[in-house]
Amino acid sequence: MKLAQFLLFIFFYLPSIASYANLTELTIVSSKGKQAIEGAIVYDKKSRVGVRTDLKGKVLLDSGMKVVQIKAKYHKPQLLSLAELTSNTIVMQHDEKLLVAEQKLSYPKKNKLWGNYSEYRANNDLLSYDLSIKVDPDKKYISGNNKIRFKMLKADNMIQLDLYQNLDIDKILYNGKPLKYEREVNTVYISFPKTLTKDAIEEIDFHYSGYPKATGRFGCFTFKKDSLGKHWINTACQGTGSMVWWPNKDQQPDEVENMIMRVSVPSDLKNISNGRLIQTNILANGYTEYVWQTLNPINNYSVSLNIGNYVHFGETLGRLTLDYYVLEQDLDKAKRQFKQAKPMMVSYQKYFGEYPFIEDGYKLIQAPYTGMEHQSAVTYGNGFKNGYNRGADVSADWTGVGISLKFDFIIIHETGHEWFGNSLTSYDFSDSWIHEGWCTYAEAVYVEDQFGYDDAIKYINGYKSKVENKFPMIGQPSVAHWPTSDIYFKGTLFINTLRHIVNDDDKWWSGVKAYTTGFKKSHLYTVDVLNFFNQYFDEDFEKIFDQYLYFNNIPTLEVSKAEGQVRYRWQSDVDGFNMPIDAKVGGDKIRLYPNNTWQTISTPGDFSVLEELFYINVKEV
Ligand SMILES: [Zn+2]
Repeated sequence: MKLAQFLLFIFFYLPSIASYANLTELTIVSSKGKQAIEGAIVYDKKSRVGVRTDLKGKVLLDSGMKVVQIKAKYHKPQLLSLAELTSNTIVMQHDEKLLVAEQKLSYPKKNKLWGNYSEYRANNDLLSYDLSIKVDPDKKYISGNNKIRFKMLKADNMIQLDLYQNLDIDKILYNGKPLKYEREVNTVYISFPKTLTKDAIEEIDFHYSGYPKATGRFGCFTFKKDSLGKHWINTACQGTGSMVWWPNKDQQPDEVENMIMRVSVPSDLKNISNGRLIQTNILANGYTEYVWQTLNPINNYSVSLNIGNYVHFGETLGRLTLDYYVLEQDLDKAKRQFKQAKPMMVSYQKYFGEYPFIEDGYKLIQAPYTGMEHQSAVTYGNGFKNGYNRGADVSADWTGVGISLKFDFIIIHETGHEWFGNSLTSYDFSDSWIHEGWCTYAEAVYVEDQFGYDDAIKYINGYKSKVENKFPMIGQPSVAHWPTSDIYFKGTLFINTLRHIVNDDDKWWSGVKAYTTGFKKSHLYTVDVLNFFNQYFDEDFEKIFDQYLYFNNIPTLEVSKAEGQVRYRWQSDVDGFNMPIDAKVGGDKIRLYPNNTWQTISTPGDFSVLEELFYINVKEV
């Protein structure tokens, strides 16, 4: 479904691609060991369209592409005329100087196994999960099974799933008979007794049990007690893997179309999960089973359990239901604080289009960690106070400029992910700025809609102090590596810069909405974002995307002032960097078009660059 939607979108917005024929394949390899390069971009200047190499370094071109720029991290860019090519394999010159700090990162085997979209993952397409799980709070023990339906995309006799190695596999059934499997770290390779045919729809039933580990930034699976000493059990696994507590195909590019979760808990507790509660069954053993169903495609890391002494209140906004689940003792505080949810939803729908998962509703669920964007079941742990409350010794004024205290950071940020992360999903962790940069920008969109443009600009610029510029925002692909926190802060400053390059707010907001609605419920790479913005705004953002996303440094505008005139030029990692900026010259706002060579303007008065609108360094020389 997702692919079909994406192709429709391409057809609608990028007709120049759809009309191309006679695709040709290139393979991009490194001079270092002739290794395939994943994520190299082949960019055609004339059509302003880029394509990206896959895991095997392969990329499909077409006859419309004539002269292309080929770029790959840590390699010298190449300009090629495709007509003059004598080989389909392009060797990129590896350049040690471009490695910077990233070379020091190493990736353990479990990350490589997890991050690689291997042939035994790519050979099938997920259709649905039907997960049953019984949670025993006293023993801190779980047991259950996941019925996984999938369609074979090619004939094969093996698939790859994931389950943390500390959990036991009890049996994996296929047509009622046990299957053979092998485990390697957290990976499970499952063999079938016969070759499954292409297009066959298959189902396996994966039984497991054990003691899940509390691990990772958000705890993954925690058995805690609430303030009244009652059991409070929650899951949050982004960056660590949902395989910590349930077996699935744990990767980002493929999602089930829908999912059922049957969660059995002691009857004095309730479980709140994604989607809607469709059944409650009182079991004989003192347990109650809560059956939740989500009707939309869902990321594995979004699937969530919240077990505790929850009470409910709710409201509606048109067709959308907003439901709130909080601990009984926090009900009054929640009723006050969650008043922010509805106006936020109005703002987000205005700028990003209708809430993407309307069939599943929107929920805020209290949790013992700060918060997580679980799809249609956003978890909240910000203490029912404005700002970002991470502890008594840390200021709640998150961006430090007085704006953060006007709203609840966790409600606003985590809900923004319903559009950026849950609806628009990156294929790989390396492109996570598509989630976090845009979601952080969504905070500023909310601020602008509620409190005005000046507050929004101030809020965004408050993020400057958090940017490190030590690693590029685009990380290493296929190794399950979450990039630097710059993807949040620098990401939003970058998007704010794009807005002011466009320099036409009506067009900018219509473009943002076309982006979020056009890619609704689909996966994308950074190059898809670049292609979209190039086409929509009729600009060539290639070098700007390159400088901000693939290099540590932001561009520096060198300025040399003399009597009555100012000289300026860009210093950048990207050759021919050509970003326009606005400056104040003698009280007037003017647009400058600097490049890598000196240009001069005469200045009757003061000269200053509008640095709050363009995230750059300005250096007087
Ligand atoms: Zn986030």
